[in-house]
Amino acid sequence: MGKMLRFLVAAVALAVSAGVMIADPLPPSSLIATASSLGQSALGDPSAFNFVESLTTEIGQRLAGTEAHRRAVAWAESKLTAAGFENVHSEPFTLTAWIRGAESAEIVGPVPQHLVVTALGGSVATDANGIEAEISLFRTYDDLLAAAPGSLNGKIAVVTQRMVRAQDGSGYGAANPIRRRGPSEAAKRGAVAYLLRSLGTDNHRLPHTGALSYEDSAQRIPAAALAVPDADQLERLAAQGPVRIRLLLTPTVRESAPSWNVVGEIKGGARPDEIVLVGGHLDSWDLGTGATDDGAGVAIVFGAARLIARLPQRPSRTIRVVLFGAEEMNFSGAAYAKAHEGETGKIVVAGEADFGARNVYSVQLPSGAATNDFGRTLDRIIAPLGANLDRRPALGGGDDIRDLQTAGVPVVSLRQDGLDYFDTHHTADDTLDKIDPKQLAQAVAVWSVFTYLAAASDVDFRSLAPAVK
Ligand code: ZN
Ligand code: ZN
Repeated sequence: MGKMLRFLVAAVALAVSAGVMIADPLPPSSLIATASSLGQSALGDPSAFNFVESLTTEIGQRLAGTEAHRRAVAWAESKLTAAGFENVHSEPFTLTAWIRGAESAEIVGPVPQHLVVTALGGSVATDANGIEAEISLFRTYDDLLAAAPGSLNGKIAVVTQRMVRAQDGSGYGAANPIRRRGPSEAAKRGAVAYLLRSLGTDNHRLPHTGALSYEDSAQRIPAAALAVPDADQLERLAAQGPVRIRLLLTPTVRESAPSWNVVGEIKGGARPDEIVLVGGHLDSWDLGTGATDDGAGVAIVFGAARLIARLPQRPSRTIRVVLFGAEEMNFSGAAYAKAHEGETGKIVVAGEADFGARNVYSVQLPSGAATNDFGRTLDRIIAPLGANLDRRPALGGGDDIRDLQTAGVPVVSLRQDGLDYFDTHHTADDTLDKIDPKQLAQAVAVWSVFTYLAAASDVDFRSLAPAVK
């Protein structure tokens, strides 16, 4: 009882300090009990898995700016409506769509053989006949950066740095510049094309795509990822002497292609204009069916909000589910933030599920919240679900909510086990069979508890943040 009382007192103190009227909050004891039973019922609820099964089966891949993505948007609207969401609509924006073409690579000398590659998203095409050149191989990205300007003139630069496997995905963050920035860094040193070892932790002959980002000041050169064993092969051959490669990539772009952020809401009871925003991204790469990236994420937030909508009493704040439309090429977050510029002060907190389909093992809250009653209460409720509060504040919440965060919206990060996420990430092997329904349901459970507590309590994350000097 003491804990519940402290929660109530703290909630009142917070509301007063933030100048917020408490309308009719649920009594804390009932709020905690509701959140606990919500989490338990989520463990046995198949609706998130059914959602991602339908998406990956009936739509499949859904590259932003393509007809497949347009079909996914219509599919999502009908699913949200059928599940009882309100205010279901799609918010349009445009992007430069990138469409994969033919892609092939081979070693022409000293020993001719096929290489498995896939173009990086955003890559320019080679000549129609491909490009043939000697390679310059770097075992680390730093080695490439240390190369002098002009030293790669006429060469195909190859970076074979390995990505580290880690539960929190930190290996991907560390390796990301190799893919994003590598092509321009190679071009600045004279390279005519760029290859990297796939950013992946597997050893299959399935290359991992992903977006690059060219620098305005550098020549735009074609860029592709090698399957991991093919990068190993090049390392061995390059150690013996010069290697020549032929590379063919024929992607195209479509300017001003349409995309949409799909929105559905569970309207709040007492304070409907305060918003708890949870999202994932509906678009996917074109190679697989976008099951773990990010069919699972949109399914998790859908499943969590759907369970809350079925409670006998609505939380006081509105829960807004946003299925972002172009995360992979990094367009949808900015489009969303711009369209909602005047509303960011109303968004209590934002979170995005975009890290696969496995269990949530910890939750990082906005700064200052972990040691508050909100954090302590959340910690208690998610412990039986196999997750705990991470006392470090969330540094970021996902690509699509970064612009909201920049505009001052507090963000949350629900950490999912990513130990094997990068085995199939952005490959043809990102398919439904990689999703364990039980682990997906656990992620839904933790998301539903967090979302419900944020929407049903008076927590003001902005007022909890330590003052910045
Ligand atoms: Zn993603
Ligand atoms: Zn992705």
